[in-house]
Amino acid sequence: MRLVLLGPPGAGKGTQSTRLQERYSIPQLSTGDMLRAAVKAGTPIGLQAKAIMDAGGLVSDEIVVGIIADRISEPDAKNGFILDGFPRTVKQAEELTTILHEKGMDLDAVVELEVDDKALLARIEKRAQETIDRGETVRADDNPEAFKKRLEAYHAQTAAVSGYYKSKGALKGVDGMAPIDAVSKAIAQALAG
Ligand code: AMP
Repeated sequence: MRLVLLGPPGAGKGTQSTRLQERYSIPQLSTGDMLRAAVKAGTPIGLQAKAIMDAGGLVSDEIVVGIIADRISEPDAKNGFILDGFPRTVKQAEELTTILHEKGMDLDAVVELEVDDKALLARIEKRAQETIDRGETVRADDNPEAFKKRLEAYHAQTAAVSGYYKSKGALKGVDGMAPIDAVSKAIAQALAG
């Protein structure tokens, strides 16, 4: 199963990807997680990406496509993967199609979590508070200002990715406002259908 999970920041892509990873025994590939690891490790890519990420902007297509091309070539992604947070631009989506075709592969489905902006801001504030309550460090971009920027980047660049997959007939929309278990169920139904 090769799957893309689309949706605005805070829509629950991470939570649902983790569940899908267990259900299908395929890795969850999050470009956000990979970039945060690069920032933490202080790699050249991390150094380049840090300021952009902290401000809620998008890292260059070239960098993220390179990261994903390498990652999906790893042995654990041979039987499939869930892409979480990638592609975020139409250019990334086109490049992904090319990379997969070169390997004789294609996506099986693209699921979009549909959530409205007002609910997202409330969710991100809750996520930051829950992280603090667990005694963990809040993501540098989980503050209202950076989040607003991330949402703007989503509407300006990522929303068009849905259109790209819709035109290919691959897009399945799921109500991301429902409780977590109901969203998981709706995704399972969309994938079975
Ligand atoms: P996420 O964890 O998916 O919310 O990603 C956190 C941040 O990493 C984003 O706000 C971007 O700055 C960067 N990022 C993650 N994935 C991508 C991508 N596919 N293209 C560009 N920037 C990305």
